[in-house]
Amino acid sequence: MLYKNLEITLHKASPEQKKEKPDQDKLGFGVHFSDHMFTARWNREKGWHDAEIKPYRDFELDPAAMVFHYGQAIFEGLKAYRGKDGQVLLFRPKDNLERLNRSALRMCMPRIPTERFLQALKALVYLDREWIPEAEGATLYIRPTMIATEPALGLRPSDEYLFFIINSPVGAYYSEGFNPVKIYVEDSYVRAVPGGVGEAKTAGNYAASVKALTEAQKKGYTQVLWLDAIERRYIEEVGTSNIFFVLGDELVTPPIRGTILPGITRDSVLQLARDWGLKVAERPVTIDEVIEAAENGTLKEAFGTGTAAVISPVGEFCYKDRNIVINDGRTGKLSQRFFDELQALQRGFRDDVHNWVVRV
Ligand code: PMP
Repeated sequence: MLYKNLEITLHKASPEQKKEKPDQDKLGFGVHFSDHMFTARWNREKGWHDAEIKPYRDFELDPAAMVFHYGQAIFEGLKAYRGKDGQVLLFRPKDNLERLNRSALRMCMPRIPTERFLQALKALVYLDREWIPEAEGATLYIRPTMIATEPALGLRPSDEYLFFIINSPVGAYYSEGFNPVKIYVEDSYVRAVPGGVGEAKTAGNYAASVKALTEAQKKGYTQVLWLDAIERRYIEEVGTSNIFFVLGDELVTPPIRGTILPGITRDSVLQLARDWGLKVAERPVTIDEVIEAAENGTLKEAFGTGTAAVISPVGEFCYKDRNIVINDGRTGKLSQRFFDELQALQRGFRDDVHNWVVRV
């Protein structure tokens, strides 16, 4: 295997370099960072090299580094969970690193050696295990990232890259209970176009989405539901989550066709639903179909799926000044069941029949 023997050096933070841990009740999301990080460099001549786990610190980059100008940047998001008996557990981490490699291919960036970098990720999380919060539902969010670092302004793929992993202790997403969110159906801005980069977890997708998000938030909505770029009819995804509907007795989610991110939580929900013998469909869903189902009573539930919140029930949609309330704005039975099951799995309280859980 490529880079199987890539040496990873370890420089532990000295007691003075260690940071003070934040107050467990005020963790928020992605504002505090742990003591260590993993970094590795790539260039055409050496491939991946200089792999090291070291104290968390600033980078020094040339102002001409290509990431600053043309945005060759990809990332991932996964979590370390404190499980049964204090075990440290990861959920499907290989799937995240493989998705990073698919993003890399789309953005003309080098593949990472997934096995070796997974070992590095595990070593990093183990070293920083005291940063996994104790509070119920709190986790350590892990952010693997790759950026183009060659100083050059000609437009082409960079010849040098930096890969890094940082960790952030994050609070329980639902510290005040499992609250259904209000969603704004965006029919003007779009997130992704066929042939574009919607399927890649690349920084520009997120940069391009914040205008619609801030406008929706100003109107009192939590997130944006994206429609397709061509007809503004087909539902794609919600903010940084995939979307599911319970239509009659069927669980429905839009198919992966190049414009939405293939979520790992989405895939887990589909698998669980099949395990439970539910009727499942990955098929195009239009906003008109959802409105009609809401009107005739067949729209039972809607929920988003993603690493951050696991399951995020939708209580209300706003589409062209119309409000569509789902399940009286309450969390549906199936949303709750998926949430409970996934949380229990991620914390090691279930039989892991799909081999999703990895012990650090
Ligand atoms: N869609 C987008 C655009 C996202 O950023 C995310 C979060 N990674 C998801 C969906 C959900 O993916 P996952 O279940 O792998 O977190």
